[in-house]
Amino acid sequence: MDRRREIIIAPGAGFCGGVESALGKTLRIAKNKKNGHIFLDGELVHNREVGDRLRGQGVQLLEENSKVCAEDTIIIRAHGIAPQRRSHLEHLGCEIVDCTCPLVRRISKIIETHGDGQIILLGDRNHAEIEGLCGHSKNIHVCESPIELAQFIDGVRQNGPIGKNIFNNKCVNFAGADMVLLCQSTLDMDFLAAARNLCDQKNFPVKIFDTICAATKRRQLGLQRLENCDAVIVVGGKHSANTKRLFEKMRRKMAAVFWIENAGDLAEINLNPHRKIGIAAGASTPRDVLGSIHRKISKK
Ligand code: SF4
Repeated sequence: MDRRREIIIAPGAGFCGGVESALGKTLRIAKNKKNGHIFLDGELVHNREVGDRLRGQGVQLLEENSKVCAEDTIIIRAHGIAPQRRSHLEHLGCEIVDCTCPLVRRISKIIETHGDGQIILLGDRNHAEIEGLCGHSKNIHVCESPIELAQFIDGVRQNGPIGKNIFNNKCVNFAGADMVLLCQSTLDMDFLAAARNLCDQKNFPVKIFDTICAATKRRQLGLQRLENCDAVIVVGGKHSANTKRLFEKMRRKMAAVFWIENAGDLAEINLNPHRKIGIAAGASTPRDVLGSIHRKISKK
């Protein structure tokens, strides 16, 4: 019997265009920089290999106590940044290189356009992209799940047109207000679909903008190609929110799902019972890591 392995890499797995461009720009700056330091305002991506590679090129993380001088360069990552943080960085007096993904910038523009109304933002409260977006309006209410969204809608309706957002205790006046709903660029598409249903069911007058980026949609839809595999390996940093989402999505569909960061971690999982193996990866996973995992599994 032929016991060779069949390996399928999910369409859209690995680095998205925004991360690829930010990393490429940072490496080019590191290569050409003659004087001064290069600081990153936060991890470029949640991936150990990428972090080690950047550190190897002399790129360091900007800390509260970092001494910054005029010759230095600060890089704003693809997740974007709040305007208040940007002006703080600009006051440090060095070169600022903005690697904010154009698709994240588009979300901040929509927020600014509707900044006087009420904005519901679906996503992870502690994610850098959401933190940055929240700096563009005082009227943003973040909801992390459909349950939270339902609580939010009920909360603001409690006292007629003016209610309280139970998450931040702010009063929300939605009588005649421009109400919009937006998503983090890497949101689970199922969450947005559930949010649409909820707003319909509760007759909540909100204009919905689908701001999930095309790379994220492609990655999530790519998981369907893996559904008839015996096992699936999800590759990405343990702090990567979008990798966690992919892992959880696959776990809801099948039992043999493993989350690893690199080819070295394969030693810790038992793939022997499985012949047809799928590989998915978050936006922060370099393609060469996927390549080395593919090679290693083929030989196992
Ligand atoms: S996930 Fe989408 S929005 Fe975010 S950096 Fe990548 S391409 Fe841009």
